[in-house]
Amino acid sequence: MTSRVVVTGGAGFLGSHLCQTLLARGDTVVAVDNLCTGRAANVAALQANPRFSLITADVVDGLTIDGPVDLVLHFASPASPVDYLRLPIETLRVGSQGTMHALDLAREKGARFLLASTSEVYGDPEIHPQREDYWGNVNPVGPRGVYDEAKRFGEAMTMAYRSTYDVDTAIVRIFNTFGPRMRPNDGRAIPNFIRQALAGDPVTVSGDGLQTRSICYVDDLVAGIVALAGSGEPGPMNIGNPHEVSMLDLAGWVVKLTNSTSPIVHIERPVDDPTVRRPDTTKAHQALGWSPQVDIEDGLERTIAWFREHEVEDQVLSPE
Ligand code: NAD
Ligand code: UDP
Repeated sequence: MTSRVVVTGGAGFLGSHLCQTLLARGDTVVAVDNLCTGRAANVAALQANPRFSLITADVVDGLTIDGPVDLVLHFASPASPVDYLRLPIETLRVGSQGTMHALDLAREKGARFLLASTSEVYGDPEIHPQREDYWGNVNPVGPRGVYDEAKRFGEAMTMAYRSTYDVDTAIVRIFNTFGPRMRPNDGRAIPNFIRQALAGDPVTVSGDGLQTRSICYVDDLVAGIVALAGSGEPGPMNIGNPHEVSMLDLAGWVVKLTNSTSPIVHIERPVDDPTVRRPDTTKAHQALGWSPQVDIEDGLERTIAWFREHEVEDQVLSPE
């Protein structure tokens, strides 16, 4: 059965891939995005599909959609540390008021609701790998607090709508994801490393580079989210690839795959930068039968190929 789906943040990196996948399976998709970190170009190819529409609006101001809605996927939020440090108040507002508006829409329409939460709710974790029952180690007054606490508030709000108003909710905790359509200048490690390596510029590794992340190719992440949305599971549920890599090794890997001569240089480590991160995905595997399928090197090669192809376009569209 096909659905009518509202995707907030639908013109962003993950949102645009979700819209594409939902359209391909026959759903009708309404993307709502204020384009603060996303780009209309991400969904330009979808505009030809009569089942797709993009509403340019800020979900903090409210979320009114005519007609029936079966599913609300709430993905609107700056996500890169560079973006949310530049937009701290906006990040807190979209995570709080924006989440309330998205929940109100789901309540009004009798729709299922899925919150895009984050591994960042675990902060700088003292437990490794991270399971969903770990409460996290977040500094609320540090610079990253604006993102981490907005997402933690969003999770609490989602649970409150579930228990108070009986809204059918789900929470996904997304771990670091990469792929085509990341903005080359969004400041995250993988787009930075690829952009720098392709340009022959120094590849910037923060601190000693021994801190780790576990990186997931976007197609796997989208498959997990679609499976969670289509299940009755409430979460919170980790979705990510447990393939853990240090930032120094990742930089070297990207330099090798791009055949670059870029040197690796070390830059200052951000405040409260988590030291390790890896999802325990047992829950997603057991509840959804989901596990990542794309080999990380394949995913990096696909992403590098996309960055090469879109170099000219990105130079025009991305500077922020
Ligand atoms: P992104 O910046 O590419 O996409 C976010 C989108 O939300 C953008 O298109 C932006 O314009 C839109 N947006 C932001 N504030 C808005 C508002 N007030 N009203 C309407 N639209 C708004 O980031 P992404 O990587 O695609 O992340 C999408 C979601 O997934 C975010 O909620 C993020 O927290 C979550 N997430 C992503 C990752 C990851 O690795 N990419 C990891 C954990 C969580
Ligand atoms: N990082 C880096 N060089 C960069 C950008 C990021 O070494 O040019 C580091 C960053 O300090 C962190 C890791 O890479 O340790 C992942 O950062 P990213 O912003 O991609 O994601 P997040 O910190 O949100 O997991």
